[in-house]
This record gives sequence, C-alpha cells and structure tokens, in this order.
Amino acid sequence: MIKFLDNKLFRYLSVFLFLNPSILPVKSSSALAAWAINTNGVLELRTKSNTYLKAYFQKANQISGDRFWVDFPGELKNPRTIQGNGPIKEIRLGKPDKGKTRLVIEFKEEIYLKPLTWQMVGLDQNRWRIKLFNPKYAFKKIGEGLVENKRVNIKANQNLIHKKKNNYGYFKLPEVKRNKFEVVIDPGHGGPDPGAIGIGGIRETDVVLEVAKIVKNLLSQKGVKVRLTRTYDLDLDLSPRVSIANNTDADIFVSIHANASRGKRRDINGLETFYYRGWRGRLLAKRIQKQILRVSPGSPDRGVKQGRFYVIKNTKMPAVLVEIGFLTGRLDARRLEKITHRKRLAYAIAKGILEYLDKVG
Ligand SMILES: [Zn+2]
Repeated sequence: MIKFLDNKLFRYLSVFLFLNPSILPVKSSSALAAWAINTNGVLELRTKSNTYLKAYFQKANQISGDRFWVDFPGELKNPRTIQGNGPIKEIRLGKPDKGKTRLVIEFKEEIYLKPLTWQMVGLDQNRWRIKLFNPKYAFKKIGEGLVENKRVNIKANQNLIHKKKNNYGYFKLPEVKRNKFEVVIDPGHGGPDPGAIGIGGIRETDVVLEVAKIVKNLLSQKGVKVRLTRTYDLDLDLSPRVSIANNTDADIFVSIHANASRGKRRDINGLETFYYRGWRGRLLAKRIQKQILRVSPGSPDRGVKQGRFYVIKNTKMPAVLVEIGFLTGRLDARRLEKITHRKRLAYAIAKGILEYLDKVG
C-alpha cells in the first residue's frame, strides 16, 4: 500500500458509468457539457448521456501542484485556462489526444488533500459529483455552463422509478445458449463460522450470501442452471461444498468471499481472484476480476493469482475463488455494507461468468 502511494503517477480512481459504458466515436464533440466547483468543494459535472469517464490524481511534483483530472470522450473546441481561488490554482480544459477532452484541476501547493477517500458518484446518466476538499475559508464557485437543468432532473427521476420497477432491466448481460450450462456458486462460510468480521461488525457470511443469491437470479434469467452450496446461514464444511459441485455436471464452480487484513488495517483494500489450475480456471478468474474491478473504482487490483484453497483445488471443473473486497478496509467496507454495491458486484460476477461460458462454451 505504501509503495502504491509512493508512485508518482498513480491511477487510483478509475470511474466509469455503470449503466452503459459505451464510448463515443472519436470524431464527436466533447462529452463534457458543463462543470462547476461549488462553494462546498464539490465538483459537479454534466456530460452527454452514457459517457465513459476516467478520473486520475497525481501528487505534486517540481513542476506542478496536486492535480486531479477527468478525461471525457469527444474533442474540445477551445482549450482554455480558468483562474482558481482558495485552494485551487487553476482549471485547465484541454485535449490531451485527438478526440479527447481533459478537465484538469490544479491545487495550490499548501493544500492537504485526501484523494484516497474520494468517490465519484454518478447522479444519473449524465450527472456526476465528487467531493474534492473542505474549504477552510470562503471559496468562490467556479464553473462553466449549467450543471443541472430542470429537464434533466425530471428525466432522472423517471429513470429512478423505472429502475426500481425493473430490477436489472437496464443492465446488459451477455446472452448464452439457454439450458446448456450449469454453475455452482459457493457463498463462503456460514453458521458458527462468520468468516471475516469487518468495520462496524459487518460479516463476510452475510455479504457473500446476498451477493451469491443475486448472481443466481441474474444467471437464471439467462437460462443458466445455478446451484448454491448454501442458501441461508448454514454451517457447511468445505468437503460437502466440493461434493455438491463434483456430483453434478457443473461447468464451473465459483466461491465468493470477502477479505480481512491482518491487524484489520483500514488502508488495505482491493479485489483478487484465485484459480488453482488450467487455462479455463485462469480465464474465468480473469473475466470475473476484470468485471468486479469495474464496479469498484479506486479499490486496488490485487490480481488474478494461483491459490491452493481447498474448494478450488478439489473441484473437478474450472473453479475460482473471488475476494470481493476487504471488510476491514475503509473504502471497501463502506461499499460492501450497501445493497447497491452488492448488486453491482453480483452483476459483475454474473457478467464475468457469462462471458466465460459464451467464449469457452
Ligand atoms: Zn472467506
């Protein structure tokens, strides 16, 4: 973690629009429609709908102060610099590459920022906000264009209602051949073994069970047969979990866990996926890892690794064990306690599985 912080250029915030990460064609105009840094230190953005954003932070160096920037698709017409006030030195709008727009916020040297706590929040399909700092003295709002307008708000509310009614209707999961595949999902721990206990007493057994159940629903909707090794807070040994998988013709086995760090260090966060053998297991792990990272912006990629865990070592079929975050980590725990994030993780796991099944068959 310390090494990670020391990297001069570290990309720790990677933000994307979860609803529809489609990328605009290169020739189109900038997807950035309006921006404002409010008196409370919150940056608000309005973009074209369904924009794919990426955000970055770089610590101060000899040449410039701390910088935060967001890249948007589409080319900016007029590169410009806007004078800042308070902790902000200046704001630059530029085109780092052809067909791109970059909004750079450069801070003055003396300001103390806590970028590891930052979170870009998507308010709806075209609005974003991120809290950058707490103004010590009065800060004058800076911005261009209308960040919100009434028409957008009405639309957003309608979207929200629509989403509530239609659970996952707005997610696009890959299609696979119906009634062909069988998957065993194993929510780790259960019963007297709660697994990891995290910040605020959050328990691994509960988190992974809920995620697993949603994965099951999502896959079932795609015509994949799913078996859960447990469906409630059941005390289940490792060997029956393996038997459940080995006694069926399951195509794959996916065990879901959440992590805890030694000494419950709050600065340790991240996601990792293990496989034990074979290119299939590795491919499945890679697909799942890629997807869970996408829904966990800012949480470190601990990678796809070989692991000797009992359940993936003793199952016959391609098998992976996925760690969906650290319950003891400040960033991960705050998310894992929310149902919305559990749904996103479940969606991501389901997507990785479907991609694998579609490819390997
Ligand atoms: Zn576990």
